[in-house]
Amino acid sequence: MEGFDRIIEEVFAEVKAINDLGEVASYIPELLNVDAQKFGVYLTSISEFKYGKGNFTEKFSIQSISKVLSLSLAYSILGESIWSRLGVEPSGTSYNSLIQLETDRGIPRNPFINAGAIVISDILISNLKDYKNEFLNFVRKLSGGKPIDYSNKIATSERSVGYRNVALCNFIKSFGNIENDPSEVLDFYFDICSLEMSCIELSETFLFLANNGINPHNNEQVLTKSQSKRMNALMQTCGFYDESGEFAFKVGLPGKSGVGGGIVAVHPGHYVITVWSPKLNRKGNSFKGMQFLEKFTTESTLSIF
Ligand code: GLU
Repeated sequence: MEGFDRIIEEVFAEVKAINDLGEVASYIPELLNVDAQKFGVYLTSISEFKYGKGNFTEKFSIQSISKVLSLSLAYSILGESIWSRLGVEPSGTSYNSLIQLETDRGIPRNPFINAGAIVISDILISNLKDYKNEFLNFVRKLSGGKPIDYSNKIATSERSVGYRNVALCNFIKSFGNIENDPSEVLDFYFDICSLEMSCIELSETFLFLANNGINPHNNEQVLTKSQSKRMNALMQTCGFYDESGEFAFKVGLPGKSGVGGGIVAVHPGHYVITVWSPKLNRKGNSFKGMQFLEKFTTESTLSIF
């Protein structure tokens, strides 16, 4: 990891100076209350190299990045049988699309579009007694005991306008792929999306996916080696909405983005890097985050390809 600090410094300065052509997500009203100029980066490695720049200690709304964490918990409980409820194909449509569900008879294409994450919320409710706290404890343990929580403000704000997700959940229920009451499933889904974490916390939390499924903070095997490989494969193919191909092409790492402007990228066996910059490009991914990661993997010449 030698020289990574210098590369982060240089690429950070270069991307900070770029005119940000993105826009802060506005469909969840509370997300607009963020300072659009925030920009943070944090890298943590298996070899315990750590380096941050900018606003890397500030918490932000991780939104869809949480879909990787809820899937990890569900996958650790159910194993491969989970794939009878949802697919593993890139959707090629927007993250909140209803169209495919009709032809696919209520089986979401993958766990990282909203429909898929809603099914995962349903699975967690069916399998855990105190699901809200158990999910939170799962994430806190992965982070090495950091104070991670849901944001009531963000969840309430999204609940007040979440008509499309309500439609998705009811539609899937009509095909029999939701077991619980849709309002309970949606309530949990919005809480999961509302998790707030900093770049440090996210990088530390995702380290198990760079470490063959083992939580490096307590050496617990969270996912098997094969499951961890599959999580990375899904992030590679489905992690960036309708821009997943572009991310693989330009950055070359598995990752996941969220409409809060965060991106986590994993280099299996090596490191996790998190970037946060709230303004999003047209595909819903952080404008500067994408630029940063493209330049970072180009400069470091380290990608999985
Ligand atoms: N809570 C957001 C939604 O359901 C998540 C979107 C995202 O980050 O992709 O619309």
